[in-house]
Amino acid sequence: MQQPNPAMIQKIMGMLENTQEIELTCDEVFAVLDQFVELAARGEDVSNLLPLVERHLSICADCKEEYDTLKRMMAGAV
Ligand SMILES: [Zn+2]
Repeated sequence: MQQPNPAMIQKIMGMLENTQEIELTCDEVFAVLDQFVELAARGEDVSNLLPLVERHLSICADCKEEYDTLKRMMAGAV
């Protein structure tokens, strides 16, 4: 079980270079979603770290549902 950390996620996001004006795909969001949830749960500023993921969640019902599921799982696991 690897620990999530902002630097690693930003490295992943760095691979998606110059995507500021581009929407992420669901695959890209899914790749970091569990980390996104963990960071959010730890109180990290995910809207600043991963604005594209947050934006995708606001427009994609499928990913939002997955996000909510992960959040519930995380809450239940504590
Ligand atoms: Zn999506």
